[in-house]
Amino acid sequence: MNSAAPFLRLKFSTVVDAYGKLEALSGRVAITEVLASLLRETPKAELPMLVYLTQGKLRPDYEGVELGIAEKFAIRALTTASGLPVEAVKRSYVEAGDIGTAAEKLLEEGRQNHLSSEPLTLRRVYDALFDISQISGSGSIESKLRELVSLLSDSSPKEAKYILRTAMGELRLGVADFTILDACAVAILGGKEHRKVLERAYNVTSDLGHVVQLAAEKGLSGVEGVRVQVGKPIRPMLAERLSTAAEILEKMGGDVVAEYKLDGERAQIHKDGAKVEIFSRRLEKITATYPDVAEYAVKYVKSRRAILEGEVVAVNTETGEYFPFQELMHRRRKHGVQEAMQQYPVAVNFFDVMFSEGEDLTGEPYTARRTELERIVQVTDFTRPVPALRTKSAEEIERYMEEAISEGGEGLMVKDPRAKYTAGARGFGWIKLKREYRSELTDTIDLAIVGAYHGRGRRAGAYGAYLLAAYDQKRGCFPTISKIGTGFSDEDLERFPKLLKPYESSVKPPNVESMLVPDVWYRPKVVIETIASEITLSPIHPAGMDSIRKGSGLALRFPKFTGKVRDEKGPEDATTVKEIVEMYNLQKKRIKEN
Ligand code: ATP
Repeated sequence: MNSAAPFLRLKFSTVVDAYGKLEALSGRVAITEVLASLLRETPKAELPMLVYLTQGKLRPDYEGVELGIAEKFAIRALTTASGLPVEAVKRSYVEAGDIGTAAEKLLEEGRQNHLSSEPLTLRRVYDALFDISQISGSGSIESKLRELVSLLSDSSPKEAKYILRTAMGELRLGVADFTILDACAVAILGGKEHRKVLERAYNVTSDLGHVVQLAAEKGLSGVEGVRVQVGKPIRPMLAERLSTAAEILEKMGGDVVAEYKLDGERAQIHKDGAKVEIFSRRLEKITATYPDVAEYAVKYVKSRRAILEGEVVAVNTETGEYFPFQELMHRRRKHGVQEAMQQYPVAVNFFDVMFSEGEDLTGEPYTARRTELERIVQVTDFTRPVPALRTKSAEEIERYMEEAISEGGEGLMVKDPRAKYTAGARGFGWIKLKREYRSELTDTIDLAIVGAYHGRGRRAGAYGAYLLAAYDQKRGCFPTISKIGTGFSDEDLERFPKLLKPYESSVKPPNVESMLVPDVWYRPKVVIETIASEITLSPIHPAGMDSIRKGSGLALRFPKFTGKVRDEKGPEDATTVKEIVEMYNLQKKRIKEN
């Protein structure tokens, strides 16, 4: 159990010693051990701070507390703290390839006689970083800088290394959220068999710091008692993909619910009487973008307190027809909500309910949730339960798919009538069936932009192509998979550099893996949707290296930008290497069959 006396404060040097070890380790067991002993040393009240910092955050994602200070700003802070000329700092940064390593080296050389009277504590570091994240308005850059420099001046070179990395949003300890849960199970609940309970609590609250603290304060029964809560977003249930109706039927035991899969934005709607909060697919608050959706939830959802999910689509109010996704994204980018609401009205197709009238429904089979959904969602011009068909026939599914497409959908989402709502997991309880699967094309692939190449000819002076990366979930990094230059409109070519500017990096970002060297590097932040004719083996892209053939990674053939910037996806929500390997195998199977 937690051995530290409550009045003790955890020294930050203890934290960075552990971080140093974590960085050097690769095995999950060893990493878990280091984390477990760090958790044991941490006073209960400080556990959330430790957990968030170890995740490279300050608060759970859904609260929207942003750290990520710009590269330029980090260099300025380090210049002041080290007393060295800015050129020397920049040189050291480019040589080291990372701000933390540069800081450690420069401060070691420049400040042998670092004499801070009091050792830095975890709480001081956390509070200072939190303050920095909250400063805004005029003169905020200078105030942030002062606070950061003051923190760096009181830190040892090694502490400065991790402080700067955290401030830049580049901590990358290689610790997955689930490894933190493993460590918590062992260190706080007394055995790794308790990890599943912790995982569930995390998936339904999306707040790792809260779950770990709860484990420390209330023990196993406290964690078991965690229910979905109105106001705390649930990590979304995600779908697998298969290519034919017959395969899906077989996988689900011959009896399914086929639903329209509409092309809009996923919204998780939390209603508490007249108070509504809406979360995006990546669990950011988007209530301010959709006040009309909030109003619909109040007016047209009969349950007083409920958590529902639906697809928000742009709608033509004169004909009732749905517009494609791009139309909706105009709304997201538009300033002035009132005007945007009038110009781009939306409808909501509700497809799930996870909580209603005081009851957690996540453990109920889908059919029961659907029954409740139909009971509480009123059918209006702007709201309805998504059209659904229970069937045992592949032919019926095919026909329903055509119907869905003719009504503006992208295909079907087929659901297992018995499946619970598996928060935070991609599984076969839901299977997507899109039109593309049936032609030569693969599914669309969402990738992070990590670099750009100068253009020639008509594109001289702009960027001609971008370098894209998938997300390697296992290793927490972004290996490249493709260069892309097709599908960009003139407007895209103009706005992309502006969109990407804040993430420019003078060095290859440490979490990017690439054999190619673009003209400009970007930290992975902006995610775009692409479509390609095929996935091929490639010796020059590290995505999926060695997974199909030794020495080869995977690449996209004839990649094309679809026009969608996936604003609602973070870099970690990009298509994963694992999915791409699966898509490659699916494609191989299809070629064999034809
Ligand atoms: P994913 O969300 O699975 O990572 P993605 O964002 O690329 O992938 P798709 O692969 O197109 O999206 O499919 C999943 C999304 O489909 C859901 O997140 C949801 O927004 C949308 N969707 C549309 N209709 C439905 C429906 N009836 N049931 C569930 N999801 C639906």
